[in-house]
Amino acid sequence: MTNTLQDAMFQQLKSKAIFEQAKSYAGAYTDGVMQRDVYPKDAAIEDLEQFSEPMPVHRGDASDILSLLHKVGSPATLPTLGGRYFGFVTGSVIPVALAAKWLSDVWDQNPAMYVLSPVSAKLESLCQNWLVDLFGLPKNTVAGFVSGSSMATFCGLAAARYHLLKQAGWDVNTKGLNGAPKLRIIASRQIHGTVIKAAALLGLGVDSFEWVDMDAEGRIIAENMPKLDERCIVIGQAGNVNSGAFEDFEIICKAARKAGAWVHVDGAFGLWAAATTRLKHLTKGVNLAHSWSVDGHKTLNAPYDNGIILCTEPDAMVNALQLSGDYIVHSPKRDGMLFTPEMSRRAHGTELWAALKYLGKDGVDELVCGLHDRAVQMADELRVAGFEIMNEVVFNQVMVACETDDITNQTMANVQMSGECWAGGSKWHGRQVIRISICSWATTKADITRSCRAFIDARAMANA
Ligand SMILES: *Cc1c(COP(=O)(O)O)cnc(C)c1O
Repeated sequence: MTNTLQDAMFQQLKSKAIFEQAKSYAGAYTDGVMQRDVYPKDAAIEDLEQFSEPMPVHRGDASDILSLLHKVGSPATLPTLGGRYFGFVTGSVIPVALAAKWLSDVWDQNPAMYVLSPVSAKLESLCQNWLVDLFGLPKNTVAGFVSGSSMATFCGLAAARYHLLKQAGWDVNTKGLNGAPKLRIIASRQIHGTVIKAAALLGLGVDSFEWVDMDAEGRIIAENMPKLDERCIVIGQAGNVNSGAFEDFEIICKAARKAGAWVHVDGAFGLWAAATTRLKHLTKGVNLAHSWSVDGHKTLNAPYDNGIILCTEPDAMVNALQLSGDYIVHSPKRDGMLFTPEMSRRAHGTELWAALKYLGKDGVDELVCGLHDRAVQMADELRVAGFEIMNEVVFNQVMVACETDDITNQTMANVQMSGECWAGGSKWHGRQVIRISICSWATTKADITRSCRAFIDARAMANA
């Protein structure tokens, strides 16, 4: 290699060969992904060792790098793009959102400030307005575009912490938490671990939580909430991570507002119900909360790295996430970093915008209700086959159990090994369950029937 690094990279941009190469690998990947086993084979995982080497000393060959990534990397991926991966809560990708991400990746924009990227600021503004409208939230609600619900919840709790302490005459930004009035977090034990983590990062440890009893579906029993006051942050769930259940937001939010408490809604996958015709009723009263965290990368099927914090107390959020510096130029137009913990970040608003623009309100409705329909189908077919369905299938989550915990565990292991579909485990009311999450636009009726067949075979093997 006699040319300089700079010459080499100019040449790569000019010839475009590596981009064509990546495109052809991507095409091969998407062609195969729907048919592939739903978990990488052991051999593919062992092959990952081919990546192991010390940090190279010399410049590599661009084409060889892509070739290695495809040859070794692609077979070791989980085919979440397809229709039979039901693990965790994992969406697929809407094709045009993926394509928009490619283009946006080439732009390499930083949406921290308007002056850094007018186009990103514009698309984020649109996404904010569209989401507020889709979810039926108060008109003054602002949105921050972050990596996922973990970070969105962090922002919501940061705004709550700032707001409640400010009202108590305590500026947390200057004084910190030492000696501050004590905040209480009211939640059910079924809240997602990311909420506890966000609280801990904000100096509100587990001891700040007061746990409220749940009903059979994992919803807060509103009458059993402790006495609320203006030092309380109440956490509600739009979509319990096991059962998919929704709180009675109307009662909870009204009680909280009356007491001067703040309500944060973890709506990572479930808030999308608010954007539908048939499932909207699940979220009744959710608009009365103060902040909402939601993912674009789960139910909406936007690419990963797509979470949104929505907050109807803009001052609290902006103050909580404040940052200043002599070189910072604020614009009367949108400065994304006012609403996020990060300064520089990827412009994930681009693919969110593309997904929303492509789907339209009708498409969001069709997508989300379709996930629900497939979940109901799965529950029905498994019930007929003698499995026990442990939850009311109100949204996209189905929990399944066999006669004993041992048989359930063995059935799950067999399903996972089958390559036909993939679902993980959880505990529900003291029992071992298999937890199925229908999140992919690509899941067809035939995929559900085929997956139920895999469950039946897996249980037969467990019983043999
Ligand atoms: C996935 C999930 C989260 C965490 O979201 P990330 O996007 O993974 O950070 C939080 N709450 C619920 C209910 C979830 O399903």
